Amino acid sequence: MLFSLLLMSLFVASLNSGSNGNCYYVGNGSEAVLVDAGISCRETERRMARLNLSLKTVKAIFISHEHSDHIKGVTVLSKKYNLPVYITETTARFGRLNIDRSLARTFAADETISINSLSVTPFAKHHDAGDPHSFVVEGNGVIVGVFTDIGNVCDKLTMHFKGCHAAFLEANYDADMLENGRYPIHLKRRIRGGKGHLSNHEALELFNTHRPAHMSHLFLAHLSAENNNPELVNELFSAHAGDVQVVVASRYRETEVFHIRRHDEMIHEPVPLMHSRQASLF
Ligand SMILES: [Zn+2]
Ligand SMILES: [Zn+2]
Repeated sequence: MLFSLLLMSLFVASLNSGSNGNCYYVGNGSEAVLVDAGISCRETERRMARLNLSLKTVKAIFISHEHSDHIKGVTVLSKKYNLPVYITETTARFGRLNIDRSLARTFAADETISINSLSVTPFAKHHDAGDPHSFVVEGNGVIVGVFTDIGNVCDKLTMHFKGCHAAFLEANYDADMLENGRYPIHLKRRIRGGKGHLSNHEALELFNTHRPAHMSHLFLAHLSAENNNPELVNELFSAHAGDVQVVVASRYRETEVFHIRRHDEMIHEPVPLMHSRQASLF
């Protein structure tokens, strides 16, 4: 029973989400990838241990872009655990990263990479970095997207969002809070420009217009500490969510581990949802 349950599901968690550090875990119970490594190695270890997630299951790290909140922990983490790091040459150069040559791997947009039984597809995004990418991770027929640090919603993002069973989606700022806040005008322009971040309403529009019927979880990610409010975001999205579970990923601590299952299988399978914290397989 448990075996069949694992065959059609993925486990996901945010270890941290925000301009102070990003790290997202996606795995199938025995294998996993991390998207970004923007908290220290030690903090990554600590948070995964609290979630009963083993670093032994992590088979690769994917880096979205060179901003420090996405790469801070990658050098130490990859070296300590001998983990391959998938990063474009431009991102590695712009981030001045000194990743062990034997562990550095490159990737190209729209070309799927197999990490054992997981498939990771990068695609280009609009953000003020050298060569920024978003990722979708597929395993057991379940698709999880990691979409943060996005200046605007492009067709590629919409297309991939429409396929996701769960997505980490940036809801960086409330437009009024940013407008009336204390950030200098050049920073306000950078954030809301086409290569900055997604506002709550831009993210909501994508969710409302393009969420697929099979989406079960929406994780609101990369919230600004200065120009946003987790309760506001939760209320805003929950009002439109229907059956989709809305979770605001914190900039201070890890989320719990969420178990993402295929809806079509759920309808026919009378197996009760396993509580993620009781799962000891990862
Ligand atoms: Zn960021
Ligand atoms: Zn960034």
